Amino acid sequence: MRRIIAVLSISLAASSAALAQNNTPRNLILFVPDGLRALKVTPETAPALAALRDKGVNFKNPHSLFPTFTMPNSSAMSTGHHLGDTGVFSNTIFTGYSVGPASSSMTPFLENDPVLGDVDDHFGHNYVNEETILLAARKEGYSTAAVGKLGPTLMFDHTDRTGAKTIIIDDQTGAEKDGKLLGIPLSDATKAALTAAQLPLAAPSRGENGKAGDSEKPGTTVANVDQQKYFTDAVTKAILPMFKARNKPFVLVLWSRDPDGTQHNQGDSLGSVTPGINGPTSLAAIKNADDNLAQVQQALKDLGLEATTNIVVAADHGFSTISKETSTSPAAKAEYKGVPKGQLPPGFVAIDLSKALNLPLFDPDSKNAPVADGTYPRLANGLIGKDASAPDVVVAANGGSDLVYIPKKGKKVDKDLARKVVSALIQQDYVSGIFVHDSFGLIPGTLPMSAINLKGNSVTPAPSIVVNFRSYATDCGEPLLCGVEVADTRLQQGQGMHGNFSRADTMNFMAAIGPDFKTEYVNQLPVSNADIGMTISQIMGLKPTSTGGLVGRVISEALPNGITPKATAGRLVSKKPAEDGTRTVVQFQNVQGQRYFDAAGFPGRTLGLDATETANAKK
Ligand SMILES: [Zn+2]
Repeated sequence: MRRIIAVLSISLAASSAALAQNNTPRNLILFVPDGLRALKVTPETAPALAALRDKGVNFKNPHSLFPTFTMPNSSAMSTGHHLGDTGVFSNTIFTGYSVGPASSSMTPFLENDPVLGDVDDHFGHNYVNEETILLAARKEGYSTAAVGKLGPTLMFDHTDRTGAKTIIIDDQTGAEKDGKLLGIPLSDATKAALTAAQLPLAAPSRGENGKAGDSEKPGTTVANVDQQKYFTDAVTKAILPMFKARNKPFVLVLWSRDPDGTQHNQGDSLGSVTPGINGPTSLAAIKNADDNLAQVQQALKDLGLEATTNIVVAADHGFSTISKETSTSPAAKAEYKGVPKGQLPPGFVAIDLSKALNLPLFDPDSKNAPVADGTYPRLANGLIGKDASAPDVVVAANGGSDLVYIPKKGKKVDKDLARKVVSALIQQDYVSGIFVHDSFGLIPGTLPMSAINLKGNSVTPAPSIVVNFRSYATDCGEPLLCGVEVADTRLQQGQGMHGNFSRADTMNFMAAIGPDFKTEYVNQLPVSNADIGMTISQIMGLKPTSTGGLVGRVISEALPNGITPKATAGRLVSKKPAEDGTRTVVQFQNVQGQRYFDAAGFPGRTLGLDATETANAKK
């Protein structure tokens, strides 16, 4: 840890020199096209994004943090810390207590403002345990706003829920339940600005775009146009003019749900892994996000803010098409309503572990009701054990990877139980890579969570086991654009998912342009979403307080006069193989002591993981 901090301060010093040229910080907009794959951006598919990348900084070697989900990566961008510090290990986590606004579930889905409020309250009023960049920015007296997709938007300033300091506009803005606002209130000034721009004070729903379909009815065939038009209009017609009038620096986040929401729900490929997420509806969603960015750029021009505003674009993760295939899973041998015969049902990890451990399964999202044979838990999460209120094993289902918790009973961790869970998972053909919390010691075939930056200063319960699923590519010319992954989800085979440790999911789109960035610069060095938080802090002169040491690096090579460090490549391999010879392998790059994880899993079962080379790996 000390080495990481020492190296970091060198790079800070180097880029401080670069920054010294300009005394007043400029403005910064972080635009997040959720789930946009780096290689999918071309002048044809996304002209504004392609132009920004080619005129500014092109991050050719980008990295989403694993688990490659939205909330974890939002926590990294908003704090500059890796997930071992932020404790946002996935979109759905085990909190160890019943979360009221999540139907009293112990495994809440975090993309929800009341849920985030409840979890914050429970964990010392800041469940991320780090200060965010928007909080640091408003402490400097800057104007701040976060607008867009529910969940990751609020993450940027989640501890103040008054709406008086940072403007928060998301899906829940203006929505009420039992006479109480669900979202963050709008201040009088924000209300006035929206009204003057002839915009309503409540966000529209996703409408047709929100429809995921089922095993017989295809999902949506439209992008999330109307809702995102509202968010983008709020930024360009209300917030930016207000910020300009204040004549102070600003930091603004616009989180575009597209292409993610559409790629998940699209109805172009029901039951089939081709075209999967490369059909017309997904392409329309990429164009929708691109149109939103273009509108923001036009507004900056019109307001005379273009020359003083940096735009950083970072997708939270890549994307893949869903497979539900298996030949080993006991869960897939039963028949379920709404699940094609032989396919993995939602909750297959919970069902398979319950069978392997010979313990009952309960549904945390149905008031802990028992899960009967031939049915699956409602949201795929599971509580395993004789007592649902004190489970032996908890599965938080997420998609391309799941979290497994073994809550402590008494003081000791249950190492035997962890070994049993690992051995059950290793026998399944849908598994590719297992990471175990360091407190369980070395378990053959696995790697410790600390190896992938998942062990730090977090205050939420740490998962005991992170299980990654199998991935591969269909034949489409560019394998990373045709990723397919097994996913634990209610969505269907042929729809979209992420969260996996394949390169298709770790390779997010990243680019930047503006007065504090180099122009026409192609950056070959690895960068990550934790680096985004650190680099924004550096450019804007922010000093968020830090409790953990798992921080990203300032991307100095992308800044004028910044130093260009060197990168090396490396591999981590389980010290001991499992009984059948299986080892978990991680492929990474290294810059200044900072590791960038490209892909991980069992060689031959993860897209982007070098199977031939790793087969000979010794350790
Ligand atoms: Zn996302």
